[in-house]
Amino acid sequence: MLHLIRLYNTSFALHFISLLLLIGIAPIVQAEWLKQQQDIMGTRVTVELWSKDKALALHCSQSAFDEMHRIDRLMSPYKEHSELSRVNRDAFKNPVKVSNELYRLINQSLRISALSQGAFDITFASIGYFYDYRLHKQPDPLTIAEKLPAVNYQQLNVTNQSIQFNQSGMRIDLGGIAKGYAVDRAIEQLKICGINQAMVSAGGDSRILGDHQGREWMIGIQHPRQKGEVALSIPLSDTAISTSGDYERFFLSSGQRIHHIINPKTGKSADKSWSATVIGGDATTTDALSTTVFILGAQKGLELINSLDGFEAIIIDATAVTHYSSGLQRPES
Ligand code: ADP
Ligand code: MG
Repeated sequence: MLHLIRLYNTSFALHFISLLLLIGIAPIVQAEWLKQQQDIMGTRVTVELWSKDKALALHCSQSAFDEMHRIDRLMSPYKEHSELSRVNRDAFKNPVKVSNELYRLINQSLRISALSQGAFDITFASIGYFYDYRLHKQPDPLTIAEKLPAVNYQQLNVTNQSIQFNQSGMRIDLGGIAKGYAVDRAIEQLKICGINQAMVSAGGDSRILGDHQGREWMIGIQHPRQKGEVALSIPLSDTAISTSGDYERFFLSSGQRIHHIINPKTGKSADKSWSATVIGGDATTTDALSTTVFILGAQKGLELINSLDGFEAIIIDATAVTHYSSGLQRPES
């Protein structure tokens, strides 16, 4: 069943008439819409944009993809020569000088850590690195106990454009924020290119530039337990939306779902939510906040979102109940 959410927040102006035309489907294809896909950062990235000039559209789309590949080369924990890998190799021994770009994103991650009392913490990787969801591998309780002290953003020394780890065994990973950042950067490239209607999506992180020929885009939120089903849809324009869920990268172990969003307090998969969606102005922040709210769960997660200007959230908790932040109206059933 398809539910509609209505937003009272005027920054998300709605046109309900158009919903019937767009519900639950990809946007209407017109000659001037270009849609291209590439696999970047371990996920399918889609760039859709509107331009009357086909050659320009192709050029702009490519510049968006190029930008995302550049960020991946800089921030991937899997690429030996990325800046992030260099930090993870050397930052316990010496402070590691990093680019302004990485420095700023790490600082932004730390701000979300402070805001969430440590629910969002890029040092989760000190333990996260022992999980392999493809190989169904997880750390044993002894390893968790041993590594947990290294999961603590307050033990990261971030000064003078340098990063240093104050704990041995510490590692960082920007998997909870870098895709959103890459989406924002791709949208910036499109703007520079003269595009004013577009959507860039990287897995659960999307940003919409402008609208869809005078209409809202209909964005569906994946049902966390029914593959391929939409749990609800939201009409949006000129905004970012991110969803974090426990259904993309997981395996079952003794009936327990082991997935990729780690509670820094326990070193184990967070278990309060099935899915958390955050809507707001930029994808960097919505990406980090969706991971955060997923971990905090409905009560604390909504407290956080309701305390912030310009952000809304929808949480499907671990008992299948859907919760909405105060600027959203529940769909009529
Ligand atoms: P996805 O990467 O599937 O879009 P998310 O945006 O929710 O999903 O991010 C999950 C990723 O965030 C994990 O794969 C991991 O890299 C990272 N992560 C996991 N736990 C935390 C945490 N407590 N704080 C910050 N990042 C985390
Ligand atoms: Mg996220």
